[in-house]
Amino acid sequence: MQSSKRVFLGSIATETNTFSPLRTDILDFKESFYAPPGMHPKTPTLCSAVYPAARARAAEFNWQIVEGTASWAEPGGIVNQQTWEFLRDQLLTELRTAMPVNIVILGLHGAMVSQGCLDCEGELLAAVREIVGTAAIIGATFDPHSHLSKRWIENTNLITIFKEFPHTDFVEVAENLMTLVHRTSLGDINPVISSFDCKMIEVLPTSREPMRGFVDKIKALEGQGSVLSISVIHGFMAGDVPDLGSRVVVVTDNDQSGGDRLAAELGAELFSMRGKTRPEFLTLNEAFDKAEVSKAVPVVIADIWDNPGGGVPGDSTILLRELLRRRIKNAALATIWDPIAVRTCFSAGEGAQFQLRFGAKMSKFAGEPMDAYVIVRRAVRDAVQSFGQSIVPLGDAVWIEVGGIDVILNSVRSQVFNPDIFSNFGINPKSKKTLIVKSTNHFYDAFSRISQDILYAAVDGPYPNDPKTNSYSNLTRDIWPRVENPHG
Ligand SMILES: [Zn+2]
Repeated sequence: MQSSKRVFLGSIATETNTFSPLRTDILDFKESFYAPPGMHPKTPTLCSAVYPAARARAAEFNWQIVEGTASWAEPGGIVNQQTWEFLRDQLLTELRTAMPVNIVILGLHGAMVSQGCLDCEGELLAAVREIVGTAAIIGATFDPHSHLSKRWIENTNLITIFKEFPHTDFVEVAENLMTLVHRTSLGDINPVISSFDCKMIEVLPTSREPMRGFVDKIKALEGQGSVLSISVIHGFMAGDVPDLGSRVVVVTDNDQSGGDRLAAELGAELFSMRGKTRPEFLTLNEAFDKAEVSKAVPVVIADIWDNPGGGVPGDSTILLRELLRRRIKNAALATIWDPIAVRTCFSAGEGAQFQLRFGAKMSKFAGEPMDAYVIVRRAVRDAVQSFGQSIVPLGDAVWIEVGGIDVILNSVRSQVFNPDIFSNFGINPKSKKTLIVKSTNHFYDAFSRISQDILYAAVDGPYPNDPKTNSYSNLTRDIWPRVENPHG
């Protein structure tokens, strides 16, 4: 019988767009997801999948689990310093109270920036190591849209990162970490982490080639020879930090030089894919022209840069205006973030018809606010959509009809993940000719099941979508596409 291990779980996660007109504070965490010790639901969130994954294996591994707080805020602007310090210190206090522990498992995002800290996860991991000492095992999962720093590697034993974008594998990645941590605790393996800086930033969807093949390849390499795990940090172009960029992370069983070699090899291969990984990005006109002649029902147009999942407000009205300008009927759009308009619609009630101003209130880049005669079709308290096994809150939300088009307004920001964002309101997404969704690629998996024609409209907004010209002040390394050959 294995001896019992004390395992501490924690999760603090958000993705900070340092260019966003928004700011993030504790209310954003509480609105999105906030679970005090013992209160984490059975279903995972994206970054807290380590909770259900650890619980599921506790009996088998003889783990005695102590849960700390788990929190997640929808990607947004720079995190208020008091909020960061509160979340950090709360988790560290919970850890100190749980001591002695043998294992710490954290569900992190890896792109959190506060007013006073450019590498919140690095700061947290260093503080955790300080408390638990070098004998304890620290394992963490990350989102690939993150900024890997030296501090992460120095202060963890194991790192696993979602391989898929859309992140359909977040549960699997957490489960994988449990197995590796357990084997480490038995002395069965001695993990060492290698990483390679690809010195590039690119959009890397794995739903298509060449990234599809690359992910399949690294998965096949796992378990071969000394290789325990391989993952890719895609990087996050909207975070102005020193470590911005793609990296390959290889974890081997006590084989630093072999891991370094493999990371460099795979990193060079990834670098060679730069400029070839994106789907066809269309202008506004191209996307609508194509949609109008498409035979598919529905056609999906993704408003890829007005993606709340990338930290912008998600209140652009540009695509809605285009629908109205073209007099397109039988269309639905999700979502425009406007808590004030939602509140007004609730006050008016279902069936009400009136003049409403909504959208485009947070920046001059998101078009003009809409002033329109609307019909309130449905008003739903605490509306949700699904993303894989997780349930994503939209807050109070309404379905309004504007010029014959169905529009969902929400009060808690979220990108679109699943067609149930429409059907949960009573809109049948399969009966619509045109669906507009705000999301870069996370929508793809679920929407590809109901649509034969998915179009990516690249419309400028508040998101800093051109890393060549974005005004970075903390990024001092040379990376592609800012320089043609950063590897010299
Ligand atoms: Zn991500």
